Amino acid sequence: MLLAGGLLVAGCGGPRRPTIQSEDYDSGSGLAKKLRKILERRAAALKNGDEKGYLAALDMSNDELIRYEKRVFANLRQFELADVRYITESMFEQPKDGEVTAGPIVRVLKLTADAGPGDIAPGESFVYRVREDGDKVVVTDIIPVTMENREELGVTTSLADAPWHTDELTVVQVGKKVWLVGDESVTDLKRYADVAEQELRLVERLWGDRLTYPGHVLFFTRDRDNFKEWFSTGYSDNFNPRNQGYQVRLRGVQKNGLEYQNEYAASRIVVNLLDQQHSSPRFTIRHELTHAVTARATMTDYGDWGPPIWAIEGFARYAETVGAPTRAAEIRAQVAAGVRAGRFRGAPPSRKDFYGEDIHFNYALGSSVFSLAERLKGRDAAVELYARIIERPDSGSFFDLPIFDGMCKDILGISADAFKRRWAGFVRNGA
Ligand SMILES: [Zn+2]
Repeated sequence: MLLAGGLLVAGCGGPRRPTIQSEDYDSGSGLAKKLRKILERRAAALKNGDEKGYLAALDMSNDELIRYEKRVFANLRQFELADVRYITESMFEQPKDGEVTAGPIVRVLKLTADAGPGDIAPGESFVYRVREDGDKVVVTDIIPVTMENREELGVTTSLADAPWHTDELTVVQVGKKVWLVGDESVTDLKRYADVAEQELRLVERLWGDRLTYPGHVLFFTRDRDNFKEWFSTGYSDNFNPRNQGYQVRLRGVQKNGLEYQNEYAASRIVVNLLDQQHSSPRFTIRHELTHAVTARATMTDYGDWGPPIWAIEGFARYAETVGAPTRAAEIRAQVAAGVRAGRFRGAPPSRKDFYGEDIHFNYALGSSVFSLAERLKGRDAAVELYARIIERPDSGSFFDLPIFDGMCKDILGISADAFKRRWAGFVRNGA
C-alpha cells in the first residue's frame, strides 16, 4: 500500500483565526526576530546533540512540554540528521492574555535517508505560545500540528505526525541505508534487521542504478492506534487497520514553508506487525521497500492525477514473487480465483476503486502484467516496463495509450495490441 502524505492537507484552506501579523515582522525586529534567534539555536542544538540548548528557551515549569521535547530530542538524535532549520515565513502572531500564539513555524527535517530535487526536504509544523519577559522570550508551549487540530489552528503547512512526536522510539541502523524504528510495542526489532537488509539487497538488485533515495526508514508497531495515527494514515480513504504496511511519500517544503505539490522529498514505511499473514513479515517488508526504492522515480500524485496504481501495487506484489515460488503460486491462485468469479474485464484495474472490495484480485492482476513481461523478455524487461509506466499519469485505459505501444515495442519487441492479447490469455489461463 502506498499513501501520499501531505496530499491530505493540500488545497484545504481551513478557517483561519483572526490574526495580526506584527508590523515590524518584515524588518525582523520585535518578537519575530527574537523567536527566530531561539529557533536557530534549537536547530543547531538538535543537530549537535545539545539537549540543554534545545530546551533552553522553554518554560521549565511546563512538565508536559519538557517531557514532549525531551522525547522528540532523544528520538531524533537516533537518526542521522542531514539538515534541521525553521521557517517562519508564513507565521502569524496573535496576542492573548499576556501571551502570543505564533505559527505556523515549520521545522524542515532532512534525514540522511532523504533526498529531494534542489535539496528540498520534508517539514513539520508547530504553533508556539510565547511570553515576553522583559528582553527575554519564554516558550510556554509547543503544539505539533496534526490532522486533529490543524483546522482549529488554521494551519495548512506540513503536519507534525511522524512517530517521533508520540512515542519513545528505538532506532536500529542496518548497514548504511536502512533504519528500523520500533515503538514500545516492538521488543524484537533486531529480529527484522537481517530480513530488512536481505530484502533491500534483493530490491536494489532489481532496481539497478535507477533513481532512488539514499536510505530507507521503516517504522514497526504492534499498536493499532499508532498504525492509524503515524503519518495520519488513518485519515486516508484507503486506510485499512488490518493492512500490513504503508509506504508514505512526503512532499518537500518551499522557502515560504508551504509544500511543493509536485515533488517528493522523502519516503517512510510503516509496518503493522499485528496482522502479518506470514510468520515473518518478509514479504511485507519487501513489498514496502519496493515502493520506497522506486518512489523517487515515480511521478507525483496530484489529486486524482497520478501514475497507474495497478502498476505501483502490481510491481510491488510482483517483487514478492522473485525467488519465492510459493508466494508466486499464491498470487497466481488469486488471479485464477478472480477470473473464475468473473472479475476480469480485459484491462488492468482502475485507479478509482483499486483498494475496494476486489483489492486482492487487483494487486494480483497488476502483478501479472510484470510476470508476463518477465516471461516474454526476462526480469530486467519487467523492471524497465514498470520504470517507464510510473513516469506517466493513468489515463484510465493505459494499455491503449500510444506511449504504451512505444514502451511495448522498445522493451518487449511487440506492439501494445499484441501484448494486451497475450496478457488477456495469460490471465485467463491463471497467469
Ligand atoms: Zn503496496
